[in-house]
This record gives sequence, C-alpha cells and structure tokens, in this order.
Amino acid sequence: MEILFCSSNPNKTKEIQHKVGDYIHIKNLLDVGFKGDIPETASTFEGNALLKAQFGFEHYGRACFSDDSGLEVEALNNEPGVYSARYAGEPKSDERNMDKLLSNLNGIENRKACFKTVLIYLDATGEKHTFEGKVEGTIIDNKRGEQGFGYDPIFVPNGFDKTFAEMNMEEKSRLSHRAIAVQKFVTFLNSNKK
Ligand code: IMP
Repeated sequence: MEILFCSSNPNKTKEIQHKVGDYIHIKNLLDVGFKGDIPETASTFEGNALLKAQFGFEHYGRACFSDDSGLEVEALNNEPGVYSARYAGEPKSDERNMDKLLSNLNGIENRKACFKTVLIYLDATGEKHTFEGKVEGTIIDNKRGEQGFGYDPIFVPNGFDKTFAEMNMEEKSRLSHRAIAVQKFVTFLNSNKK
C-alpha cells in the first residue's frame, strides 16, 4: 500500500516511514514531482492540514495525509499558532521569530505554552481521520541549546529542565507533539491493515 504525504520535507518523510514500517510505502510531494507550495490559508492547524491533504487527494487520487504544527503561548492569546513559521515576517527566520516572542513576553509572568500537531489522513475513499499531539511547557527568558529547529531553544517541556534544543533527536522525538500525533496515526494504520 502507498500513501502520499503532502509535504516536501524529506526528513519528516523518513521519520514517519521508519515508524510505519515496510508494509506501507510513504511517498512525499517531491517523489510525485510536485515542486510548488500548497497555500496554507486556514486559521487553524486542522484547517491547514486538511487543505494540504485535500490538495493531494484531488490531484493524485490516492490516500493522503498531511500535518500542521505550531506553538501556542497562553499569555499571547495562543499566538503565534498557525503563524509560527513566519511570526516575524518574511524571509522566515527562527532567530527573529524567537526574538519577537521573547520581546512580546517581556515582563509577563505567565510563560505557559504548548506545541501542537494536527495530522489529517484522507483514506482511499476520501474519509477523514484526525490525529492530534500536544506537549505542554514553559517559555524561558534566554535561548539555550543548539539542536532541533524553530522555537526549540526557548521551550522547556513540563517535567524537564532542558529545552528541546538541549535534547538529542531521540530524546525529543520520545515526547514531541509531532511524535505523539504520528504514533496515533501509525497505530490506526496498523489496526486497519488488510
Ligand atoms: P510545521 O507545520 O511542522 O512546518 O511547523 C510550523 C512552524 O511551527 C515551524 O516552522 C516552527 O516555527 C514551529 N514548530 C513546529 N514544530 C516545532 C518543534 O518541534 N520545535 C520548534 N518549533 C516548531
């Protein structure tokens, strides 16, 4: 069985293929020759994940999935949310995004935040299945750590004293929002194996 992952990110594709095992073959947009960007114009993670999955289903006529993630900060009315990648504008920059977030939180005591992922799978009949992952934590005052990407250097998950950027990939992928959503999806695929 083959499923199209509506993403051009080869690292995410490899990670998910590894979790799914051999009986399902995950292809991404590059594998099917699509080079553009699918517009992400919805105001929720679920909406954007659905837009991407629907694009794949309509253009390639097969089972598809897509994910959308971001950071929600309680004291900032859940910003940056769906705008996480481009919070500080174009061209997108993790450093400027973190600087903007830290400056918006300057003097604010409530540092609660969470990372969320919504993964949407449209099966071969077009039926929608939704899987979510969430990890709660705190935004610290100064960046720490060199690993990971995005807001990792300023996010400490609850129950830990290291930022995501101070964890190695294996540690982070045991607890990350994306890993939780992907694991739920993989469990679903395994239980529907024919
Ligand atoms: P995407 O939907 O997975 O591409 O994530 C959108 C944006 O959310 C990224 O560009 C990052 O700014 C942020 N983000 C998502 N997941 C993570 C994470 O695991 N660590 C840090 N930032 C993340």
